[in-house]
Amino acid sequence: MIAQIQDPEAQLTAILERCHTTALDASIPDSESLPEGFSGTIGNFPVYFPDEIAHAAGLLPVNILGGGNKLEMKYADARMGSFICSICRSTTELGLNGQLESLTGFVTTPICDAAKHLAGIWSRNLPDQMSEILYLPQNPNSPGAARYIAAEYQRLRAELARRVGHPISDEAIRSSIRLYNKKRRLMRDLYQIRREEPWRLSCSESYMLVRAGTRISCQEHIELLEQALEAIRQRHVVAQDKPRVIFVGGFCEQPPLEMIEAIDDNCFVVDDDLLIGQRWMTEDVPEDVGDPIWALAESYIERSNPSPVQHDERKPKEVYLMNMLRAAKADAVILAAAKFCEPGLDDQLFWSKDLDEANIQYLVLEFEEKMTSFEQMSMQLETFAESLLFALS
Ligand code: SF4
Repeated sequence: MIAQIQDPEAQLTAILERCHTTALDASIPDSESLPEGFSGTIGNFPVYFPDEIAHAAGLLPVNILGGGNKLEMKYADARMGSFICSICRSTTELGLNGQLESLTGFVTTPICDAAKHLAGIWSRNLPDQMSEILYLPQNPNSPGAARYIAAEYQRLRAELARRVGHPISDEAIRSSIRLYNKKRRLMRDLYQIRREEPWRLSCSESYMLVRAGTRISCQEHIELLEQALEAIRQRHVVAQDKPRVIFVGGFCEQPPLEMIEAIDDNCFVVDDDLLIGQRWMTEDVPEDVGDPIWALAESYIERSNPSPVQHDERKPKEVYLMNMLRAAKADAVILAAAKFCEPGLDDQLFWSKDLDEANIQYLVLEFEEKMTSFEQMSMQLETFAESLLFALS
């Protein structure tokens, strides 16, 4: 919790500084620095991970988001093809250079071939660390899909219980669900402000506020978000003349912060899919139910945000992008993709065709973690924003 400051702007600055330091720190809390009530950490690779189960076990869920553009690659390149996305490469590097040593375990989901093979690389190279693949249904529309996820969640629960040396009770999971529902409500409030009054909170500020939650306890994140929301609502800011855009392509590997800031300089980003793994439930998970694992599994099917790595016929790609556009009253789209990200690039192609047909303007961008120069991208963004403003005037 940040000390209370009278001036909302100063309060928000203090919160954002705290988030910035926490969010971009790739190291993992060790036994000395764990928050109270936790005995270890579970690293989870994007996208769809049930934080509540780890939380109920007393393990801090830490979302592993790669190493950013400051990480020196020494070991991973020898173990992976050069055509693998940055997040897989730098995550492997962090594992091999010892920065993830204090993790109790590491869980991936087979969202793509690269992520699927990451678990194998992990278990071969770090045999002492728990390494698990949490399988999600290929076809969420099958009648047995929720039952299948529930069985996978029970398997994860049993493995975590074995690691911590005590059972994880239903009541502990229910209590974690209640806490995470509260955090999800606050993040939904944050995004609502972005859609309705984007001048109050830039995309990079909102990103930092959400990203801090990947490394601190849910309770602490809730307190930070509550303080931040209060300050944001009192902030005195004048709306600038900028086009309203949607950003997509940040569902797994994250674009460099400098890229998000360059977009902020030119556009109001009124919705995005950044860190979708932190906010993949669209609604509250049912809280006071007999079987909390079933509530989580059923929520993956019925209440999860779509993404390029979920193949649900009820959430067609063209529909969910258009829904995002409409709900946020956006003028245009930034269609980004991480370099070598097959699911992201597939959807970029699909969406560009769709936006052409709907006569909606878009800008295609590619990113990777080791990017350090953003001048050319800034110029592209400036031209894009000017053309949008001209078309809208
Ligand atoms: S960035 Fe794309 S290719 Fe890489 S792990 Fe994520 S989904 Fe897979």
